Amino acid sequence: MRLEQRRNSAFTLIELLVVIAIIALLLSIVMPALRKVKEQARKVVCAANLSQTGKALETYEMTYDYKRFEMRKNGSETDAYWWGKLAPFFGNTHYETDIKKGKVIDVLMCPSAPASKFDLAVQVPAGPGGATGTWGAADRPWEWDRTDGISTLGSYTINAWVGHDYLYDAAVGRQEYMYRNWLDVPPTVPLFGCGTWTASWPMGTDLAPTDLQGGAGGGMVQFCIARHGRAVNLIFKDLHAESTKQLEDLWYYRWHKDYQQPPIGTIVLPSE
Ligand SMILES: [Zn+2]
Repeated sequence: MRLEQRRNSAFTLIELLVVIAIIALLLSIVMPALRKVKEQARKVVCAANLSQTGKALETYEMTYDYKRFEMRKNGSETDAYWWGKLAPFFGNTHYETDIKKGKVIDVLMCPSAPASKFDLAVQVPAGPGGATGTWGAADRPWEWDRTDGISTLGSYTINAWVGHDYLYDAAVGRQEYMYRNWLDVPPTVPLFGCGTWTASWPMGTDLAPTDLQGGAGGGMVQFCIARHGRAVNLIFKDLHAESTKQLEDLWYYRWHKDYQQPPIGTIVLPSE
């Protein structure tokens, strides 16, 4: 009698397999939704980082009487670049000393391209023999790496038309597009965005990239990446953050002083 009861109440192997199959089925339904929620959370954190970076730039401008934002002091190769200038304005005093290898300025890290994903084995060296650092990718941060120990990981790119770099200011074809004074920068100009290098000078005539994984390249290619499901975040001069509804939108923002919007239909991006 007792033995029979036990047998009735126990699961058979078939029942157990059915239960496992149902759990697996439910998980397969829930997991994509969960992944979507996680990506959405990363996008929100990313937008908050960009807001903080944009505010830091505005505070820098106010502090220095709106004179042009000098991204690199006299084009110096040993300078800490724009994050070095903004570090005192990021709100965490330790960021000023975090500009060396092994340290991470959290606010420069898009959660969808975190420091933990940096991998020299698969990323592309920047400059001759990696002298400048390493290009980032859609899901990996860039590294600015100097022999004197100045090193930073980051996954945001500055729209360099709003900055001042002694080296590039001298280059023909750049001068006329630069904003010379912070107060002249219209509210709709992007300041920073999810990107794969430290700085970029996007042009309306930039060709569409052949893939959206990032890596080496200049201009629009730095921002045109498959991050946040092709919805890269940008922070604008008026400090509003925005995600691209589609990456093609990038060609329609007002990046520089004489930016001409390209004719509709010229930008054809790979499906993935
Ligand atoms: Zn991002």
